[in-house]
Amino acid sequence: MPEIHPIRVRCPDSYPPCYSTGRGDENGLFNQWHELELEGSARYQTQLDRILASVNHFIQPSSDVETFNTCAIPPWYQHDVDVSVSLSSKEEEAINHEALFERIRRDPGQMLYYTDGSMLDKHVGAGLVQMQDGKASLNHSHSQYLGTQMEVYDAEMWAIQKAVALSITSNSTSSTSHTQHLWIFSDNQSAVKRIAKPTPGPGFNLVISILKHARLLENRGIQLHISWVPGHSDVEGNEHADRLAKEGTTLQDDTREAYISLAYLGRMVKNQRFQEWQEQWKTSIVGRSYQGSPTAKFSPLAKELSRHQVATLTQLRTGHGYFNSYLQRIPSAEVASAFCTCGRKHQTPEHLLLYCPLYSKERKEMARALKPIPLTKTTVLYTLKGTKALTTFLQSTNVATRQWILRGSQENSPDEDVGNNGWRGERVGWGRLANTDENGET
Ligand SMILES: [Zn+2]
Repeated sequence: MPEIHPIRVRCPDSYPPCYSTGRGDENGLFNQWHELELEGSARYQTQLDRILASVNHFIQPSSDVETFNTCAIPPWYQHDVDVSVSLSSKEEEAINHEALFERIRRDPGQMLYYTDGSMLDKHVGAGLVQMQDGKASLNHSHSQYLGTQMEVYDAEMWAIQKAVALSITSNSTSSTSHTQHLWIFSDNQSAVKRIAKPTPGPGFNLVISILKHARLLENRGIQLHISWVPGHSDVEGNEHADRLAKEGTTLQDDTREAYISLAYLGRMVKNQRFQEWQEQWKTSIVGRSYQGSPTAKFSPLAKELSRHQVATLTQLRTGHGYFNSYLQRIPSAEVASAFCTCGRKHQTPEHLLLYCPLYSKERKEMARALKPIPLTKTTVLYTLKGTKALTTFLQSTNVATRQWILRGSQENSPDEDVGNNGWRGERVGWGRLANTDENGET
């Protein structure tokens, strides 16, 4: 522990100057977090170093990374900013907005800004414009460059913050003005919603700044409204802010406002992990019976199928499920042989789906539904069309389910209480097959 460690500073009696944990790095045993990983397994002095090292492609000790004080706003804090995101469709909201805009522009006690963020070729920019007498005011518009390590979300937040800050210095919000309402319109829902929920996280400093300025406005008797306006809906102010934000992405000489945002780091780390996972998968031996490839998206099938159906499908894919080839390996299942009830071959997913003579009638149906795609293990388990045909096959045969195994698996009576969206509502999970009451995990 270094002498300047906060614990040592706070507790000098417990950790006198001569104190040593013997874990100092005098011999240079450990890697520095910002050094690129060397060959072999890297060792870091602390967990924090190890975590930091996992993002050292993106940040270095000299980097200007977004930081915030987690205690800046107490959790019970309630602000008076009127934040609104309409639940109507974009089209409806565009019409509503037009009416609102007309009302605001005719009322001298109201002022309004449009804000936007943009990313072009990794360069991020923000734009904002005040509307006066229904027109974009060139004297009250702003474009800002925000570097290449921020997200559009950050730019949107930045633009809202800038608009509120600018309004404070404007004559129209001075204590002698008649302004009572300040409106800010952004086309980014997550940015608008972020302000409604001022909890620590990406963009927190901008939220804090917005709320501080809102308080100043309130002291001058001005209510701040932050609202969502649909983008690309021919709302003039929004289109104007969009152009200004795009212009901001080109002002690359001015990097004063650029930093590395947490939202950006989050996205990069996620991408990096996903790539690593895909590389790992290529050479992985474990889990290879599952022939799909890694994806961050939920399978579209999972939305249509019931939980039981998804479970059966996964079990058929992985080879771990209610069929003798697997159960025979589980002692508590008390299945003595891997052979199928047809007596011909081992009862594997492949055998059940493609060859078992007990289900040839249903299999013909499946093959017909699949045409012109040939019926193979890969097409039924890993293609969308295949899994749809498979769903019908499983519904009519009930194979590879707990009930099917319990009934001795040779029965094939499709007219028995088939649920609409599950194959006969059997329960999912492992357990002693002989004991129908229990459903415990093994
Ligand atoms: Zn068979």
